Amino acid sequence: MEGLMMQQPLLVASLLMHAERHHGTQEIVSRRVEGDIHRYRYRDLAQRARRMANALAGLGIGKGERVGTLAWNGYRHMELYFAVSGSGSVLHTLNPRLHVDQLAYIIEHAQDRVVFFDLTFLPLIESVAPRVKSPKVFVAMTDRAHMPQVHGLSVELMCYEDLIDLHDDVFDWPLLDENSASSLCYTSGTTGNPKGVLYSHRSTVLHTYGAALPDSLNCSARDVILPVVPMFHVNAWGLPYIACMVGAKLVFPGPALDGRSLYELIEAEQVTLSAGVPTVWQGLLTHADATGGTFSSMRHTVIGGAPCPTAMTAAFQQRHRVDVLHAWGMTELSPVGTVCSFKTAQLSLPMTDQYAVQAKQGRALFGVDMKIVDANGAELPWDGNVAGDLLVRGHWVTRQYFGNDDTSPLRDGWFPTGDVAKIDPDGFMQITDRSKDVIKSGGEWISSTDIENIAYLHPDVTAAVCIAARHPKWDERPLLLIVKKPDSELTGVELLDFIDGRIAKWWKPDAVIFVESVPLGATGKVLKHQLREQFGNHYLSA
Ligand code: AMP
Repeated sequence: MEGLMMQQPLLVASLLMHAERHHGTQEIVSRRVEGDIHRYRYRDLAQRARRMANALAGLGIGKGERVGTLAWNGYRHMELYFAVSGSGSVLHTLNPRLHVDQLAYIIEHAQDRVVFFDLTFLPLIESVAPRVKSPKVFVAMTDRAHMPQVHGLSVELMCYEDLIDLHDDVFDWPLLDENSASSLCYTSGTTGNPKGVLYSHRSTVLHTYGAALPDSLNCSARDVILPVVPMFHVNAWGLPYIACMVGAKLVFPGPALDGRSLYELIEAEQVTLSAGVPTVWQGLLTHADATGGTFSSMRHTVIGGAPCPTAMTAAFQQRHRVDVLHAWGMTELSPVGTVCSFKTAQLSLPMTDQYAVQAKQGRALFGVDMKIVDANGAELPWDGNVAGDLLVRGHWVTRQYFGNDDTSPLRDGWFPTGDVAKIDPDGFMQITDRSKDVIKSGGEWISSTDIENIAYLHPDVTAAVCIAARHPKWDERPLLLIVKKPDSELTGVELLDFIDGRIAKWWKPDAVIFVESVPLGATGKVLKHQLREQFGNHYLSA
């Protein structure tokens, strides 16, 4: 028998409609690229999003077509989040930290029809534009007074505020199929070319419910939320959607992510909750410690994207009375998978034991199931000791990468995360290693294979292996291990000079170590695990 409840589709636009009707006067504050602070309310956001939806229709952007954004966290980016997805097109957030070749690849692969960009990224747009065919229009996210002089751009350049001004705010958000695509984010956290994760309206709204819960990111109408994690990196961990759902005040930091700027914004706007990667928080803590700054409103901060060191948890909790929520997620998971919030019994543990719990990545949210398996795929026990490949499945987990119809990444219906983890009897997961061959530096991915391939271009290189070495500031940095030709006098500096310019600057390894040979497994594959054990602490001891 069928249930007799209303069948309203779960749509991204419904989050905005809710915010407009029920929290219309709640504030959204943005530090702009232009340097000033901009303020308006949810009802203004909704009205401008409808204008932009009309503008997109005017540009001929149809349902399912991709709209790229190359932008910081700010109100215009937020408007696009809803205008694009809400009208049935697909919001494609582009990562400006990628090398121009990769950006061009991603824009073409996604077939973006139009690309919106913040003025900071104009030089990037000028480099990318001649290499891509799909976008016919680029839109500078600024007003007429700040429009740049651009030379040599063969495609049309438009002004964001002109588009807003030229269109009216009457727009009925279409009643879409909840399983239709809403947004797209490419990840470099896999081997080979970056891969697109295509979220649906349904997965986005369900993720919003799950991630807002008290034992998840713990968000409410009384919160002032500062998403430091970029809106180009997995939807700023869902916070723009969550803020609409719960009616929280939103504070966007724009491009100023240094410790001082963040601290001043947190205090000025009385932020209660923030979220970002450990590298960013290190900058904030260093600033607070150097100036004797205290946090008068911050209630808790979500730290994820890379392991949160216990020293950081202790600094926030003991010195600043700010609770840390250690979280784990992935682009492929929309992104939140686990959050480390205590169960009742843990509240009475001694502090050192509590820190040991908080070093774990946490418990699964309802909506994401997880398991660990051995090399044969057999499930391993949750005893807190044995580690295995971490697999997940659930409402907001991807089943296929965009444009890869012939291959499924799933194993028996589960998504292999590429992380190696153990799970304790209370269900707390802890990452112990990574099976995927990538490096995560300051929260962003670096491809070790790309670096190895470039090193191999040098005539004196016989073998090149790039590993993730632990780093005190960036969590990980690439370290290059090289076997050179017998009589070669190649130096590390020469090899790094050779690599320079062929990849993004921050991808360049910090050091080269020459070795006699590299360990190979039975199938001839380099045993990177062994090399990581041997050289993984190179930057810590340097
Ligand atoms: P991304 O798709 O860029 O968000 O990266 C997801 C990957 O980052 C995960 O598969 C992990 O390898 C890593 N990661 C995310 N959060 C954490 C965390 N709290 N601790 C350790 N690694 C993490």
